[in-house]
Amino acid sequence: MNKVDFLDLKNINLKYEQELKDAFERVLNSGWYIMGQELTHFEEMFAKYCGVKHCIGVANGLDALILVIRAWKEMGKLTDGDEIIVPANTYIASVLAVTENGLIPVFVEPDAASFNLDPDKIEQAITNKTKAILPVHLYGQICDMPAIRKIADKHNLLVLEDSAQSHGAKIEGIMSGAWGDASGFSFYPGKNLGALGDAGAITTNDSELDSTLRSLRNYGSHKKYHNITCGVNSRLDELQAALLSVKLHHLDDDTEIRRCIAEKYLKGIRNDKILLPKVVSAESHVWHLFVIRCPERDALQSYLAKNGIQTLIHYPIPPHKQEAYKQYNHLSLPITEQIHEDVLSLPISPVMTSEQVEFVIAVLNNF
Ligand SMILES: *Cc1c(COP(=O)(O)O)cnc(C)c1O
Repeated sequence: MNKVDFLDLKNINLKYEQELKDAFERVLNSGWYIMGQELTHFEEMFAKYCGVKHCIGVANGLDALILVIRAWKEMGKLTDGDEIIVPANTYIASVLAVTENGLIPVFVEPDAASFNLDPDKIEQAITNKTKAILPVHLYGQICDMPAIRKIADKHNLLVLEDSAQSHGAKIEGIMSGAWGDASGFSFYPGKNLGALGDAGAITTNDSELDSTLRSLRNYGSHKKYHNITCGVNSRLDELQAALLSVKLHHLDDDTEIRRCIAEKYLKGIRNDKILLPKVVSAESHVWHLFVIRCPERDALQSYLAKNGIQTLIHYPIPPHKQEAYKQYNHLSLPITEQIHEDVLSLPISPVMTSEQVEFVIAVLNNF
């Protein structure tokens, strides 16, 4: 029987086996494992890739988002109790970044077709406490950033992009990571640019923010044993930085493969029970996930499993319905709640073969 894994991480990395081993050996032999030239090199390369002035490596994607908000508090731009607009349908990390800092998330419903924050619904959520918008480029498709930027500028709001799923996505030729006042990236192994462990980064054009973040991620210190703020330990280590530099070289090629697979799915899947995702433009989407909607989602998932096709649900429970957020459980966000009932993520990755893609399409069309 054909078997299609959701994400074959081993083969994704084995594709670059020799280069990764060379990078490992370089770090091993350097005798320097934290805050050295591998990190500086990766930060420079990733800033250039995104088209921004600064990149600050941190321990993971959640820390990237938490630390930006924390830095804005240190800089006097935000304070406890301020409101930040977040999409209601997102991974919980986007919301945790707000609440972890003692700020209030205000949930806004998505555009049902693109799954992303609906700019038309943002303004009605703005109050005199609103200080920032946190758009999440969900599943790899960049939000309508020109519209969001316009609203933010009109109301004097900060913009923090959650780019954890959208490395390399562009709109109007500008990258995810370059639209916001700051942007948080994750390099969790399963992300489009994935480390071999946890890693994350922040991008920004703001030099003061850059400097504040560099200190915050390293115990609030620029100079050893001189602490200017009560910072944290959230550093991106030399080994992960070296491995990420290797993979960054291949990111655009891997993205092209994802786009080819997505195009085959979009052309090939023909089933009245299945709703395909809306794509704004080829460059807007890097297909971290290929998410379909189906009213019989659970039946479809077990049917695919019986045929050897592994799928996942991103995500089964929206943040406002989580046990962790009891204070928001009463909220009614019907578009978001409906999305969580009927989405299903199909296998997509840079190591999926054409035969596997054709097989998934054929099985889907027979449902
Ligand atoms: C993965 C992810 C994060 C968090 O990244 P970690 O590196 O796992 O901490 C944040 N936001 C979104 C949308 C993500 O998908």
